[in-house]
Amino acid sequence: MGKKILIVEDETAIAELEKDYLELSGFEVAIASTGDVGLSRALKEDFNLVVLDLMLPGLDGFEICRQIREVKNIPILMVSAKKDDIDKIRGLGLGADDYMTKPFSPSELVARVKAHLARYERLIGSGVKENEIIEIRGIKIDKTARRVYINGEEKTFTTKEFDLLTFLAENPNHVFTKEELFQKIWDMESIGDIATVTVHIKKIREKIEVNTSKPQYIETIWGVGYRFKV
Ligand code: CA
Repeated sequence: MGKKILIVEDETAIAELEKDYLELSGFEVAIASTGDVGLSRALKEDFNLVVLDLMLPGLDGFEICRQIREVKNIPILMVSAKKDDIDKIRGLGLGADDYMTKPFSPSELVARVKAHLARYERLIGSGVKENEIIEIRGIKIDKTARRVYINGEEKTFTTKEFDLLTFLAENPNHVFTKEELFQKIWDMESIGDIATVTVHIKKIREKIEVNTSKPQYIETIWGVGYRFKV
């Protein structure tokens, strides 16, 4: 699927020319010929970039740019017939990413569209956080997705089992009393008591240990509590 570009332009000949060039470069292109339609489509649909003319029937480019920026950070390339307008747009700080004065060559437009899309992808790409993973021997805990894999095989955990296992694995070799664990994982208002901890530890062991009577991960420290052994 090609990237989607919205052209907001009331001069049909210009809009069609821009569309042809962008389509030849593999983009999907839509044209809106009034400000109102342009704004509504830009907000409702998933365009990757907007080419926005300044002087339009209905809402003008200034207002459209401002309103798109309130909700979206896609690149906006503003176009005007007057050099003075470009200076004005810059001065207003509306958040447009680029400005072009008409007439411009369609290939110049394509080059700028590509450059802004590439820059935007880099920004978005760098903003994506990797899942937070805890890996200890054969156990892999994906904290972000809340999934647990034992030797590559996914196991299902209840919310509290997951929280308890994760808490212990995040604090390896630290001995916690049942009271501490109960307080940490179940809040004070919870119904239950420290026996709940014992029950959950048992259930977790059934899922992660090869031999529950000889646990390799969560050790019982008699008379004290539990620890995750590394
Ligand atoms: Ca115009």
